[in-house]
Amino acid sequence: MDAAPDRDDSLVGTDIHVQATYRLTEALVASEARMKRRIDLLKEIVFETDKDGNFVFLNQAWGRALGYTPTESCLKRPLQDFVLPDDWPQLQRVLAGEKLDPKTGQSRLRLRRADHSIAWMEIIASQMTNGGMVGTLSDVTVIKQSEDELRKLSLVASFTDNYVIIADRNGLTEWVNQAFVRRTGYTLDDMRGKKPGRVLQGPGTRREVADQISASLRDGKPVAGELLNYTRQGEGYWVRFYISPVLDEAGQVERFVSVQTDSTEQHRAQDEIEAARDRAEFLAAQAQAANQAKSEFLAVMSHEIRTPMNAVLGFASLLEQTPLNAEQREFLSTISRSGQSLLEIINEILDFSKIESGKFQIDLQPTDLVRCVTDAVNLCQPSREKPVALRLRLDSTVPRSAITDSGRLRQVLVNIVGNAVKFTSQGFIEVRVGYLPAVRRITFEIEDTGIGISPQNLGRIFAPFSQADTSTTRKYGGTGLGLAISQRIVEALGGKILARSEPGKGSVFYFEINAGESPAQATAAAPSVTFSRDEASQAARNLRVLVVEDNDINMLLAIRMLAQLGIKADQAIDGRACLRACERATYDLVFMDLRMPNMDGLEATRQLRQMGRSDPKLAQLYICALTANVMPSDREACVGAGMNAVLGKPVRTEDLLQELERAAQLKPFRV
Ligand code: ADP
Repeated sequence: MDAAPDRDDSLVGTDIHVQATYRLTEALVASEARMKRRIDLLKEIVFETDKDGNFVFLNQAWGRALGYTPTESCLKRPLQDFVLPDDWPQLQRVLAGEKLDPKTGQSRLRLRRADHSIAWMEIIASQMTNGGMVGTLSDVTVIKQSEDELRKLSLVASFTDNYVIIADRNGLTEWVNQAFVRRTGYTLDDMRGKKPGRVLQGPGTRREVADQISASLRDGKPVAGELLNYTRQGEGYWVRFYISPVLDEAGQVERFVSVQTDSTEQHRAQDEIEAARDRAEFLAAQAQAANQAKSEFLAVMSHEIRTPMNAVLGFASLLEQTPLNAEQREFLSTISRSGQSLLEIINEILDFSKIESGKFQIDLQPTDLVRCVTDAVNLCQPSREKPVALRLRLDSTVPRSAITDSGRLRQVLVNIVGNAVKFTSQGFIEVRVGYLPAVRRITFEIEDTGIGISPQNLGRIFAPFSQADTSTTRKYGGTGLGLAISQRIVEALGGKILARSEPGKGSVFYFEINAGESPAQATAAAPSVTFSRDEASQAARNLRVLVVEDNDINMLLAIRMLAQLGIKADQAIDGRACLRACERATYDLVFMDLRMPNMDGLEATRQLRQMGRSDPKLAQLYICALTANVMPSDREACVGAGMNAVLGKPVRTEDLLQELERAAQLKPFRV
């Protein structure tokens, strides 16, 4: 099978047999040459050896693959010369005719190229009868490198808890790691040669994400996202994936590596958060509606209860000033006390619901601090039978006036001092008021020698509806709201309430509030400082007063209370009557009910203010609302209509006096 011999034309014309033989030979040679040319064009190396293992034939692929040129230079040398010594045993097995499974890789040999680099060759060989061998060697270097690469990738990937899929350039699975197998239940054999998406995706998988992955893989670009997959058992699980192409040396996509982290937990948590949020929103909407309904109900209820209560307490107090025998007096005081405590409960519930629904407002005004504290403490005087002394100690540094909400401050003091009185059966209660000039804060300390509060209960008493222990309610009454309300008020006034106590020995409650702007300024503005009390009262007694009220009992009550203060007031039964009266006569002060037939108090006030623009005698009229509606919105409506003040029913004589004094103060400045 050497190169074809040159044709010898001199032989032409010899005897026929020779000629025939020659022709045949020539044909054979020609066909062999053709065959050889074809064999030379093959990609695989084709070789033949003699019985000693030396090459007797090699096609041109040999030179192309290994760089030995010309190919013929390697003839007469054994294959073994070109194989790495490490692979000689394998070569022997191949040459001995052992059948080797190509899958095991045992038929792969490393051959040394002319440039000393290594080429991986897959060998197939078979023995010939003459003891020689024929065979092929295919270059699998690229495949081998790719396999090595895959092995390296998979080695790294097999150690991670992430799920890893390695796919070839067509997106067909080549390898998956153990974490993947554990999670999905699919083995490498299940996955090999398949597109992962086909196996793993299911009904809930979002198409657009799957499409995005396909598009990126087509363009050889990395892609990341989140996807719902399914295990072999059909259980859904979420993964965050990152798929990246692996490029070969030429920059071509060789394969894809997809690394996935399980995000099922986050998804579940996310779902739960969303569900909880939906629930919370639903509940909040319900709560708001319920709160609205509650506020409305409370406003109506308080109105309905306060109006008759006003009459009960008012007449009880008038009755007290008539001659009574001891038993009657006793009954009457029970009526008063019960009525008063019922009213307190209603007030507290109403107050707390206002605070809860955010309708709680603080009205900061120049306040006569000393009077406010004295009033509050006086309201809490223990009954004569109790051997308890109630003392008030005002530090000399306490400013006479401060900018605060006097009504609210009084409420807090009455609650805390009231509690001290309630829970103390002997000893003393001391209210100490101090001043911290550096921070301009007023301090209050209320000490008692009462039953005290256990440490575990001390933490609870400021929570709404809580009492130190349930037997307290039975023995002492109360709603358990007082301290919760006080705490919120004190916070709104810029401080905090603290309590310390020893069971059986007594308790100390401490709180601070802001004194507001410089006390000097406050002093100038404080009404009670501008006028002495006596002066004011004297001026108040000379006022001309009109009471506008449609309810007979309430009218009578107001008239009697004013009479006690030395004032003989006029009466009007509704807004219209009020306007007529004000046209006819001159008044300094009108006490105006709100709800009346024909014309209500707000409308009457608006008209009086309108008339006041042209009528000088009405210009400075002081109008004070008397109302059972004490929600902040009602207060705003009153002020908006032009009223100077609002008094909640039931009205106390002191409240009326206070308004009279205010009106009297304004009087000297009037035209
Ligand atoms: P209540 O309307 O029940 O008095 P509070 O909120 O004012 O509600 O008080 C809550 C509870 O704190 C009371 O029921 C009582 O158990 C306890 N408490 C408050 N002040 C004192 C005090 N000075 N001595 C003992 N216990 C007190």
